[in-house]
Amino acid sequence: MNVTIAPFVPKAHTPFQWGPMVTLERITEIRRLIKSITTNRKIKIKFNTPERSILEGVFARGDRRLGDVILKAWSKGCKLDAWDEYFDYQKWNDSFKEAGIETNFYLHRKRKEDEIFPWDHISSGVMKQFFKRESKKSSRQQYTPDCFKEGCPDCGACVRSSHYVGN
Ligand code: SF4
Repeated sequence: MNVTIAPFVPKAHTPFQWGPMVTLERITEIRRLIKSITTNRKIKIKFNTPERSILEGVFARGDRRLGDVILKAWSKGCKLDAWDEYFDYQKWNDSFKEAGIETNFYLHRKRKEDEIFPWDHISSGVMKQFFKRESKKSSRQQYTPDCFKEGCPDCGACVRSSHYVGN
């Protein structure tokens, strides 16, 4: 059995857009723990490169200031980062430093409920209010049923919603 494990990356336009992402240290710790308890040779565990997940976390909820970082990293040769032999986390870290960007601001901070996000002006169809509700439900471990099988919780994305504004 092959299992691939990747850390959870909170994304824009989701109920998790307010939450902090796990730290690089914690990812490494969990990775070590999983390896130590997986003794069955028939189970092959693959992990996403934690540093790559951290970068994903920064850009998933980034803003326009990161454009400078991308340009700097590209100038240093960060071009085929999906390939391990080309991925150089240090170059990315140098680029953040040179651009005066503190990655913790994007990664590990719990956002205030009323924070205005850089992506708020882009409509995915689903209301921010709905994401807020879902975020609270998620922290209480409450499940929202599939709206096409059960009732409509009114997310705003289709004609069944009283808030639907169309495309
Ligand atoms: S508005 Fe449409 S997509 Fe959204 S919850 Fe209701 S049925 Fe589902």
